[in-house]
Order: sequence, then structure tokens, then C-alpha cells
Amino acid sequence: MKKIQGIGVSGGIAIGSACLIRQAALSYSKESSLTQVAEKSRLNKAIADYTESTKAAAANLRTRVGDHDAAILEGHLLMLNDPCLRGEIDDMLAKGATAEHAAAAVLESYIIVFTASEDDLTRQRAADVRDIKNALLALLQEKSTAALTLPENAILVTEELTPSMLAALTDSPPTGILTAKGSITSHAAILAGTMGIPAVFSAEGGIGQITDGTVVILNGSSGEVILSPDESTLQTHTSRAAAEREVRAALASFADKPTLSADGKAFCLFCNIGTPAEASLVKASGGEGIGLMRSEFLFMDRTSPPDEEEQYEAYKSAAEAIEGKPLIIRTLDIGGDKAIPSLGIEHEENPFLGHRAIRYCLSHEALFKTQLRAILRASKHGDVRIMLPLIISPSEIRAVKALLEACREELSLDPIPLGIMIETPAAVLTADILAREADFFSIGTNDLTQYVLTADRGNRAAAALYDPFHPAVLRAIRHVIHAAKSAKIPVAMCGEAAADPRMIPLLMAMGLDEFSTSPSKTLACRAEIAKWSLPDATALLERVMAAERVEEVRDILQN
Ligand code: PEP
Ligand code: MG
Repeated sequence: MKKIQGIGVSGGIAIGSACLIRQAALSYSKESSLTQVAEKSRLNKAIADYTESTKAAAANLRTRVGDHDAAILEGHLLMLNDPCLRGEIDDMLAKGATAEHAAAAVLESYIIVFTASEDDLTRQRAADVRDIKNALLALLQEKSTAALTLPENAILVTEELTPSMLAALTDSPPTGILTAKGSITSHAAILAGTMGIPAVFSAEGGIGQITDGTVVILNGSSGEVILSPDESTLQTHTSRAAAEREVRAALASFADKPTLSADGKAFCLFCNIGTPAEASLVKASGGEGIGLMRSEFLFMDRTSPPDEEEQYEAYKSAAEAIEGKPLIIRTLDIGGDKAIPSLGIEHEENPFLGHRAIRYCLSHEALFKTQLRAILRASKHGDVRIMLPLIISPSEIRAVKALLEACREELSLDPIPLGIMIETPAAVLTADILAREADFFSIGTNDLTQYVLTADRGNRAAAALYDPFHPAVLRAIRHVIHAAKSAKIPVAMCGEAAADPRMIPLLMAMGLDEFSTSPSKTLACRAEIAKWSLPDATALLERVMAAERVEEVRDILQN
């Protein structure tokens, strides 16, 4: 038995026999002995075959998984038909290159450019170009791997998974996927997630020891992989996987249902996402919209902030991926535990109490306006709304409104809803005042809990104190919901507590309108809401609110 570690990119436990897929070794000469016309016609035939098989694979994906996933493959065709790229290939053919060499050299130059990008998403596009290159070379050498059939219970083990490889496997999908390369933001990872296949990527150095038939256990959440497990490890994981499958099957029945309490009251159930790529998970996970897009992820891991165009493309792609459902984009929430080196935030003694989030944005007007303009432009592609983090005063909202108005006039665009996060004690206590300026509230319990209890959310030593079930936090939440109801504006919760099954009936009884959770928790949240009638939830809430200590609250909820 041996353990290796990779990155969990698609959750769930998978157990099966390894099935290795190696990229066929292709060799070709660089200089052609044929005429340029003959080479061009070989290339055109390969491109036509590739286009046909890609369109068929996209149609297959569209019926089985969804529009957005099919669009990933159709994107390959757009890339291949790019006039500039095709012109470069033609130039090489004119100089006497073989079709193989011309296609490989030009596509490789794009792979190098994409790989060198500072932006993670752009870097991942290198894998898409590699996918196109390999497919074209295989077609030119008549070594197409189009129809892949795997045995049952196969764990697909490969160097790098490509979207077309997965698309070719929709008829005999693997039980799990293990690769040496690839990241969580790659298209292949997104596809594996929507197809519900547990997957671990980037188990570099470990997969060389695997041969066809090796028994593999992989955990797509933790990234842990066990090779040739002993009997007792196999049994433990087999029963865990079976229990997980049962829960998933039960939850799957909630996928296309509305979010209703046991006595028929409707709630909204949205998802929290970081990258635009995650937007494609929302529909598949049963979400009715995006309640929080943490835009700061676009600014991380790079040396300069994204410009307006790049942000616009990112917001637009999220809006399009959820097909007209609400998309709430939170403006840049940096500082605290979210460091963004490229923005040069000065070292602070108390970063959580410092120059973070809306405070930073309002003092960096050019940077903030770039984001507001990008969001406004993206609003033409869906139901886009703006949300402001860390608000403590109505003057902050008014200042944003003035900037937003200026951007709107520059762009001649319609107004869009402007809501705020309620995550500071000041916002809780003045919720009635803030409600006059905001179109909606979303309660951020991750921060609210730390500020109400003065217990740093990231400090292990304070972890025992950090508890959203503390009577002070529960009273804060109830107060905010009442204020929103009195002002007749919708109120959501996008902090982690919204997905906690013990918190859900309390929030239902308090009158929360919308729950926003990570996509992996959406169905469980809907199932929990369906368990409770409003009178039962209210009776529980009354008992909980009568408790004086957090331990009492937990005891009541435990029973
Ligand atoms: C929150 O504070 O509850 C929240 C949702 O925002 P973040 O976790 O990004 O600070
Ligand atoms: Mg927060």
C-alpha cells in the first residue's frame, strides 16, 4: 500500500482499477516531400475531421451535461479557426513544412505564451491548445483516439486530462480520474465536476508507479490517493464510498426542484463562487443564481491588477454561464486575510480592522472605477447586481453610488441593483439606516462572527470562541433580518453559516429570503429546508433565542 498526494478537483471517493491512457508517441518529419497544396489539403482534411468530431462531442455533452460544458469544446473550434493562427500555419506550409510540423510549431508557440501568463485562467488555456495540437497530429497520422471505451470501475490515469478526452468518454465514463498535471481551474477539472466524477490532478511523481490494473482509491475532495490498499483500508473506503453514493443519490432528487419548506414556503438558493469558471458549476449543483462572486480572486496570484477588459470578460462569462439568473458580484474585498501583493497594501498591525475592502476601494478611485465599469458593462449580459463588502456607514454607499452614476453616464448604461454585505457590528446596529440606501442585504457571517465576538476567524487559539451560534451573533442576524423586512428589501446570507444544517431552520424562521452556499452544499441545503415546516422552525427558534449561552444553543440544536 502506498499513499500519494495531489489536488482534489472534483469531490467524492472513487475506488477502481487503474486504466492508463498514454498520449500516442508521434514522430513526423519537419520538411515536406509533397507540394504545398498537398500538405494544405492534408491539413484541411484533419481540421475538417477534428471539427466534425468536436461538434459531435459537444452535442453529446450538451444533452448529457449542459450547454456551458459543450461550449468549452466549441471554444476549441473558435481557437483553431482564428485567422491569425491559421495565417501563421499557412506561412509555414509555404516555406515547405509538413502539415504536422506547421500545426505543431504554431500551436506550441501559443502554448508557450499561455503558459507564461501571470493569469491562472490564461495559463490553463495552454492545456486546451495542447488538446487541439495532439488531436490534429493524431488525425494527420491516422492515430485518432476518438472512441475511447473504458472497462467498468476504471480509474483513468493519464499525464494530463483534456476536455476532448473526457468528452470521448461520456458513454463509458471512468469511476475516477488521476493525473500528473492540471489544476482546479482547468476546463477538464470543471467538466469532471459537472460530470460528477471524483478527480485528483497534479499527483506528480506518484503516478509513474501505477500500472494497468493497480487498485486505486482516490478522494476527490482531499486529493489523497491510495495505491494497492490493504484489505482493511479497502473495506473502510468501500463503505465510505457507498455511504457517500447513497447521500448523493438522495440529494440528486432535489436538483431540479424549487427550494420549498415542508409547508410550501419558497426560498431562494444561490451559490458562492470565486472564479468565473466556477459559474458553470452553479447550474449543475442546483443553484438558482450566484449570491456572491468573490471578485478578489481575479486579482490574486499576479503582479498587476486585471484591466477593465479582462474583468469585463470574466464577469460576462459568469453572467452567461448562469443564463440570465442573478449574478451578485462583490466588489474587491481585499486586506484582512486576503493579501494581494500587486496592490501594495501596507503592512498593518490589525489588518482585519484596517484599510481593507470598501475602504481601500474608495481611496483608490481609478482602480475601483475600472471594476465598476467592467461590472456595469457585464450587466448587459445577464441579471448582474453589485454588492459592497465591509460597510459601516451610509456615506460609503453614497460615495459608491456617485462613482457608479459617473461610470453609468460614461457608458450610457441602465442602473443595476446595489446591495451591501452586513458583516460588521456597525452595519447590524444601523441596518435600518443602511436599508434606506441599499437595494438588498447579504449577511456575511464569516466576518460578522469574528467582529461580534472579537475572535479572529483565522486564529486557531480563538477558534473555540468563534461560533455563529453564540447568542450575540444570532441576535445580530435576527435584528438584520427584521430591519430588512421593515424596509421591504430582500435579505440573504452568504457566510458559511447559511449552509449549516443546524442554522438553516433558525434562518427560515427569522424570515431570511435567500441562502447562498458553496456549490457543493447547495443540494444539502435545499434538502434541509424541505425538512422543516415554518411552525416547527419557529418553535425551535424560540427555544434557541431563549438560551443564554452558546453551549445551551448547541445542546438544543443537537437534540
Ligand atoms: C463573509 O464574511 O461571511 C463573507 C461571505 O465574505 P468573505 O468570507 O469573503 O469575507
Ligand atoms: Mg467577509
